[in-house]
Amino acid sequence: MMECIFCRIVAGSSPASRVWEDADTLAFMDIHPVTPGHLLVIPKRHAACLADLTPQETGQIFTVARSLAGALRSSGLRCEGVNLILADGEVAGQEVFHVHAHVLPRFVGDGFGFHFNASRSRPPERAVLDGWAGQIRAVLGPAKK
Ligand code: 5GP
Ligand code: ZN
Repeated sequence: MMECIFCRIVAGSSPASRVWEDADTLAFMDIHPVTPGHLLVIPKRHAACLADLTPQETGQIFTVARSLAGALRSSGLRCEGVNLILADGEVAGQEVFHVHAHVLPRFVGDGFGFHFNASRSRPPERAVLDGWAGQIRAVLGPAKK
């Protein structure tokens, strides 16, 4: 039996409320929705994290997520805004290690929120930002774009 719950959903051996399917991508309702209409978009091929996806698969996931965001806004479900969220790694909140993008309908008073460290209120010096930018540029070869 397949270990990965999302691979089982792709294979049809676990149930899911499917919304979209193409050759490479599947979208279905999250089983514990944060708000009504909360969707997940996954590559059909098992990939644990972002680094395991091809640029094409990455593009397709976000293309589908964009179209689902539009569908949510006209679906009749309450949707005044949308968050696209992808948790890459345990520390980022990833619980299922088959890449997935959340498409999360938002409305005033829905109770969802992001919490930031208070130190964010004071921006770093420009030299610090330039230093971080340089570190990232240094490892960003054309093949990794
Ligand atoms: P993560 O924290 O990894 O970004 O999100 C995992 C999401 O997968 C959670 O929102 C959780 O509710 C959802 N999930 C976990 N198991 C299942 C399942 O068996 N079926 C569906 N439809 N969603 C699941
Ligand atoms: Zn999987």
